[in-house]
Parts: sequence; structure tokens; C-alpha cells
Amino acid sequence: MSDAAKSPQARLPAVDRLLNTPQLTAAAAEHGRALTVATLREVLAEARATLGRGDVVDSAEDALAGETARRLSTLMTPDLRRVFNLTGTVLHTNLGRAPLPPEAIEAMTEVARGASNLEYDLARGRRGDRDDHLEAWLCRLTGAEAATVVNNNAAAVLLVLNSLARRKEVAVSRGELIEIGGAFRMPDIMARAGCRLVEVGTTNRTHARDYTEAIGPRSAALMKVHTSNYVVEGFTAAVGEAELAELAHAHDLPLISDLGSGSLVDLSQYGLPAEPTVADTWRAGADVVTFSGDKLLGGPQAGLIVGRRELIARIKKNPMKRAMRCDKLTIAALGAVLRLHADPERLRQRLPALALLTRPLPEIEALAARLRPVLQNALGADFAVTIADTASQIGSGSLPVGRLPSKAVTITWARTGRGSGAALKRLAGALRRLPLPVIGRVQDDALWLDLRCLDDEDGFVRQLGGLRPDAGR
Ligand SMILES: *Cc1c(COP(=O)(O)O)cnc(C)c1O
Repeated sequence: MSDAAKSPQARLPAVDRLLNTPQLTAAAAEHGRALTVATLREVLAEARATLGRGDVVDSAEDALAGETARRLSTLMTPDLRRVFNLTGTVLHTNLGRAPLPPEAIEAMTEVARGASNLEYDLARGRRGDRDDHLEAWLCRLTGAEAATVVNNNAAAVLLVLNSLARRKEVAVSRGELIEIGGAFRMPDIMARAGCRLVEVGTTNRTHARDYTEAIGPRSAALMKVHTSNYVVEGFTAAVGEAELAELAHAHDLPLISDLGSGSLVDLSQYGLPAEPTVADTWRAGADVVTFSGDKLLGGPQAGLIVGRRELIARIKKNPMKRAMRCDKLTIAALGAVLRLHADPERLRQRLPALALLTRPLPEIEALAARLRPVLQNALGADFAVTIADTASQIGSGSLPVGRLPSKAVTITWARTGRGSGAALKRLAGALRRLPLPVIGRVQDDALWLDLRCLDDEDGFVRQLGGLRPDAGR
């Protein structure tokens, strides 16, 4: 310990002197002098306060300059960054949902660089509409007459209801009054859209006559919500899209269908559980269909709205649309993702979200077999690493019952006696502190790393050398 550190009255080195240390000269060259000085002053102020309380501070130049450099480096590291999603939930809302295909990333960087024809009609040399870049493709892939796009599906639902049913009634089955993670509750959205929700039927059974009885002079639409994040089993009844559309049309009302995940292709062709596609829903008679861009579509966050021409026109005229419009990066990425959907046969290879969902089990197994000894070696004898069967989830409220057989490496505390829970918590923390944080899940006294979504084996292995599983003990 330096002399200075021993004495609470010790004077701290001057700012100018510290700025001339090799560490802070380098930091100032990298991050700029202003931020370096500001950060150094913070460090010195804290040191002074600590000394003032009579506590000990390492006031050596080296220590103060080092602390400043460390803080600067943390400050300048982007806060939003890539992580390894080994949670077993493929489209994890908290971890950013769908990974984008290279085509979408290239399209985004291309338009990000400078000016683009975002709202400019190049053929006519006049103002254009940003939806024009996507509408024709959405119609081609769904069969619908027209389309528009907003920032997410929650916004899409809000906008559709507000445009078509403000101050009027919308009938929804009680079994479909869903809540989706992150405070999207159908009754709340209805209220905010300015519509009166008319609940129809019961939680487990709703019949056509329930809708008929609910239709009155103030009705504006019937709505069907895809209950994507739960299932009602047993004594149940629901009215299918086709029957409901017929009923709505007999009363001159539109049927709005919130599909949620909204796949554009039949997933059963890839061995995944079947979901109604957007095209199926349109064909069944829905007049407006909404779905997410970053769920089963495998694209960027967006809310897609397809349907009948005159209804889409009313939706586009709503001033709220202006407040929900997508930016050019989203439109660029979506355009690329939609074009990939033109060829369902190659979609599995080209759309990362679908590639992860359909990753062959033997491939995940082989990955687990390679990684188990590597992880065991990195973790040492305190931990035992084994391979276990697990089931990945699609996530984002898609297909709650559709579970995908997968393999995980599971890590347990190998020492006898207590402390397993704390040790696993420390290990999970150490994995999160890696340069590319690794996110797993702790369950049944083990840390589970589902390997389905591990797409960068080398990157994962390379950083294990820096793992300090006992840090903070
Ligand atoms: C996910 C989902 C939403 C919300 O979509 P976001 O794109 O997350 O805003 C709305 N409705 C249903 C049925 C959903 O599954």
C-alpha cells in the first residue's frame, strides 16, 4: 500500500498530473479529452468523499488512472450488444426475437449509408409512399388486396381497431381476451383504441349464436385473436375463421383477425407444428389480418396489416398511422425477408429463425458432445458438465404446445454439501459477464445451456478461457 493510502488526509494527485500518465494519455487519444477529464474528475470526487469518511483509498497515480481508464472503456462499450441465447426459447422477446438473414442486414446497411427513395417515386419523379416498398410483396405472399406496415403488431392492432371501430363495438370471444408478455392486453388495447369491447361466449366455449346475439346497431367489427400463447383444453368450442367471416359479412361487418405470429408459409412442411398461415386466414374470409414481423416471419420488429383494399385505405388515412410508421431500416430488412419467402424450398437454409427452429437434432447432439469436455475443462473440478435432453420453445407466444426436442449441456455443482445454488448463480453471472454474454437458465439445481441457438461455436469456445466461475466468491 502506498503512503498516501494510509493517511485519510492524503492529498490526491492533481488532474493535470494524472492526465499525463500513459494510461490516460492513451484514453484521451481514444475517447477524447473532454470525456476523459470528466470521468477522471468523477473518480477523484469519489476518492475524496471516501477519504472524507475516513475510509482507505488507493490514491496512487496508477490506481486512479487505471480506474478512470476502466470506467471510460465501460462507458464507451455499446450497451446493446449481441449475446448467446442458450435459454432454449428461440424467438425470445427479451433477447431481441428473430435473428436477421444476411440479405436483410445488407439491405439495412445500404440504406443507412445515405439518401434513399423511401418516400420518393423514382419512375414518376415525385413523392411516393413508404408502404410501396412492401405492399406488392405482402399481397403476393398472402393473397390479400392491400397492405400497410407499422412498428409492431401491438401498434397494428391498435391502429386497425381505431381506424375501423372507434366509438363503436367490437365482439371478441371471452376465450380470446389474451394478455401477451409486456402488458399487451386485448381489453386495454380496445379501450385505448376508443372501441367498446363486447365479450362473447365463455372462456372455454363460444358459439356462432353468441356472436349473432352480440351484433347490434353499434357493432363495427367481429374480431378473432389467435390465442398464440396458451391453449384451452377439454370441453371447448370456438368459431372458426370461415364461419365467423360468413357471419360478419351477413351483417355487413368486417372480420378482423389478429394472428400474432403469422407465418407466411406452412410450417408443417419443415416438420414444425402447423399454424394457420396469413394466406389461410385471408382465404377463410378475414377482411383485415395483423401479424408480427419478428416472430415466425423471421424479420425485424414490425406490425404487418393486410386485407381488403378499402379497409387498408381507411387504416392508412388514420393520423395515428403517422405516429406508428416504420423507419427505412425496418422497411429495408422486411423487403429482404419477404423476398426470401418467395422460395419456400430454400427458406430453411436462408432464414436464420427457421434454420434454428428446424435445426436437426443430430447436429445439436454433435455440438453438445464437442462442447461438454471444453466446458468441463474451462470450469474445473468444482462443476460437473453433462449432456441432457431438453425441449426448446418457439417463443414469443408462438405455438405454446409445440416443443422442439433439443440437447443441453447442464452444469451442476460437483462439491458435496451446501452452496450449490450460490455457486450456480455465480457461474451464471460469470457467463453473463463474458465479452459475448452467455444467457442460460437455472433449473433443478443445474445451469442449462440449450445449444439449439448456438450458431457461433468458435466464438463461444474462444472466450471460455476468460471465464472466472468463482469470481465474487
Ligand atoms: C405477439 C402478439 C401480439 C403483439 O405483437 P408485437 O409484435 O410483439 O407487438 C399481438 N397479438 C398476438 C396474438 C400476438 O401473439
